[in-house]
Amino acid sequence: MAEWNQEYIVLSGARENNLNDVSLRIPKRKITIFTGVSGSGKSSIVFDTIAAESTRLLNENFSMFVRNFLPRVPQPDTDSIENLSMAVIVDQKRLGGGSHSTMGTITDISPILRLLFSRVGQPHVGAAHMFSFNDPQGMCPECSGLGRKLGVNMNKAIDMSKSLSEGAIMLPDYSVNGWEWNMLMQSGDYDPDKKLSDYSEEELDHLLYSKARKVKMDFAGKPTNVTVEGVIEKFTNKYIKQDVKTKSERTQKTVAPFISEGPCSSCHGARLSQATLSCKINGLNIADLSSMEVGELLNVIQNIDEPIAAPIVKSLTERLQHLVDIGLDYLTLDRETDTLSGGESQRVKMVKHLSGSLVDVTYIFDEPSVGLHPRDVHRLNELLQKLRDKGNTVIVVEHDPDVIKVADHIVDVGPYAGSRGGNIVYEGSYQGLLESNTLTGNHMKLPLQLKQESRRPSGHLSIKDASLHNLKNVSVDIPAGILTVVTGVAGSGKSTLINDIFLSEHPDAIVIDQSAVGVSTRSNPATYTGIMDDVRKAFASANKVNQGLFSFNSKGACENCQGLGVVYTDLAFLDSVKLPCDVCGGKRFKEEVLEYKLNGKSIADVLAMTVEQALEFFELKEVVRKLQAMSDVGLNYVTLGQPLSTLSGGECQRIKLASELHKKGSIYVMDEPTTGLHMSDIGHLLAIMNRLVDAGNTVIVIEHNLEVISQADWIIDLGPDGGSKGGQIVYEGPPAQILHAESSITGRYLR
Ligand code: ADP
Ligand code: ADP
Ligand code: ZN
Ligand code: ZN
Repeated sequence: MAEWNQEYIVLSGARENNLNDVSLRIPKRKITIFTGVSGSGKSSIVFDTIAAESTRLLNENFSMFVRNFLPRVPQPDTDSIENLSMAVIVDQKRLGGGSHSTMGTITDISPILRLLFSRVGQPHVGAAHMFSFNDPQGMCPECSGLGRKLGVNMNKAIDMSKSLSEGAIMLPDYSVNGWEWNMLMQSGDYDPDKKLSDYSEEELDHLLYSKARKVKMDFAGKPTNVTVEGVIEKFTNKYIKQDVKTKSERTQKTVAPFISEGPCSSCHGARLSQATLSCKINGLNIADLSSMEVGELLNVIQNIDEPIAAPIVKSLTERLQHLVDIGLDYLTLDRETDTLSGGESQRVKMVKHLSGSLVDVTYIFDEPSVGLHPRDVHRLNELLQKLRDKGNTVIVVEHDPDVIKVADHIVDVGPYAGSRGGNIVYEGSYQGLLESNTLTGNHMKLPLQLKQESRRPSGHLSIKDASLHNLKNVSVDIPAGILTVVTGVAGSGKSTLINDIFLSEHPDAIVIDQSAVGVSTRSNPATYTGIMDDVRKAFASANKVNQGLFSFNSKGACENCQGLGVVYTDLAFLDSVKLPCDVCGGKRFKEEVLEYKLNGKSIADVLAMTVEQALEFFELKEVVRKLQAMSDVGLNYVTLGQPLSTLSGGECQRIKLASELHKKGSIYVMDEPTTGLHMSDIGHLLAIMNRLVDAGNTVIVIEHNLEVISQADWIIDLGPDGGSKGGQIVYEGPPAQILHAESSITGRYLR
């Protein structure tokens, strides 16, 4: 009996958040996928119970001393969990790390590449650390290994179409008749009436970069010695070489527009010293290889046939192949990790684990399909299978039907969200799920419908000749007043086109992304949406007292817990525990405040209501409007007082959407709004987008979800592939015609 049980992780009586005494078995060394509507309780099982317990057990292995440095994890509310192995959580948190952390360093590929150069690079320059831009011996001395330097923004500083007397120099102090301008004139070196574009190269170089020299000048009849210097040279010495932060705030403000960051002029962004860059393999230095797309780099590495390099080549090949397999072939090793998207970050982390040698680990993934085009989902599936076949247990929270298909075991949580969820409604095979009468099972069976009648645009927002990152001189008209979906495989250029190019010209657009809305434990949906203000006023006027009383951040706060509702207690030799405050019982308010009622409910009762319950309770027009907006975006199950720090990325995005819904005549930009949404919720999301459009707004959505794509008025498909193989428009038009567009990968998947 005991042995048979070891084949499963056995969970009994789980009660975190909305869980209803959940008990279940998860087969070990298999792929188990958790499905169910948002808010049904998937994360409460997988993250708040299983992952939390594993982390806690792991921490217990450390000495008290070490444990003091680890995050404190309280015991999850559950009767027992058996046979848990070490859990590794591969989430979508972005890889921070600043400019010294790159794709190459985070995947451990860079150290191996350095080893390769130290073994077979010519001429031989020394040891492997010479090839590291984080090492004083290897880094470019000019930029300290950053690859970038501050410099003068020439477009802002100089107007080549003008002469000096027309104000060609736009830097401070050089205005016509200004002090510096007069010195240039008096030096007699420059023709004041010749346009700079007509200067010879030599003349221009002298004007901009000549070294300081003493010149005799006549000031008010007195001969005086002054120093004249090239315009850019002078500005650089005065404001860039010296830390501009030591200047007055006013000066900083005046010069800031003229300073910009660009590639270092010594290493041209390669970050390495000249000696290191002179060392090559087959004519290429380490910076050349690091700036190649991974797919291309793999070819180059495989062509190195020095026998002494064979083991290194093999290990590089294996790691690069993993990156290609997961669909990241368009990234380069020198790409800074803090510029990767959430989905890309998660896939990079996945690769790190594939190359590792751990077995019998429980890997936990949170919607790994985020950011992946349907074309690339099979690659993700293969990686999940590889992890399993190495002897690991794989647990995935996922909504994408194409990922759900590869599960060995499915756990469907529901039936609905919040208090109406928290149960297991189905456990078993994929086939069984299709036959089950659950929300997930039923939605998996629905066929895709293409929108037949598109709305007419009210105008166009044009993008002209965009060429940032991989974009190939893209010009495109984004229709105004209708629903446009921008799609294409990962790395094709969607975010570059919309977030970097379009939004820089339309800063007034309302952007609804997945970044956190606030990490404070003191903000919640009621404060974020502004409902709290109306509610406090209502309580104050009903009871004829001050509104401040009804805030747990001010006068009304329970004095014992300062309005947090919990108290952290440090127990010697034990983890610090978070206990509900024993004065207010977790209600956060002073007892006297709770005596004041509105239609029989206290302020704490109101904050404990779900959006759905609050909609039944309130009649105030403003409150109802805001609640309805939250309900419309599928957040019925959230309570008004739930700390925002506990919301997922998808939930954050929807709460932003809810609070921006009433604005009219605007441009809305949404980045993968289906993240975290169950198939049955996508209909609601589409309804909201359509309402926004019907109210006269322009809605632009970056999406891979086929249901959303098929319901667009207009599709802009980027591609054909990712990275240098992408960056072009492969289709623009209504959904019906994309089926016939040969080069559109999206079209192929809609068929
Ligand atoms: P899912 O992962 O299926 O979207 P969750 O497990 O995140 O669902 O949430 C289940 C329920 O528990 C929801 O009603 C959610 O609002 C609530 N919940 C989740 N985390 C917390 C928390 N830290 N505090 C209070 N309620 C929470
Ligand atoms: P998508 O949104 O379609 O996934 P992106 O616009 O993010 O594609 O990327 C398009 C190309 O531009 C890719 O080759 C990507 O690696 C590159 N890229 C994106 N952001 C940056 C950046 N901050 N720095 C350098 N290259 C970038
Ligand atoms: Zn440099
Ligand atoms: Zn308290």
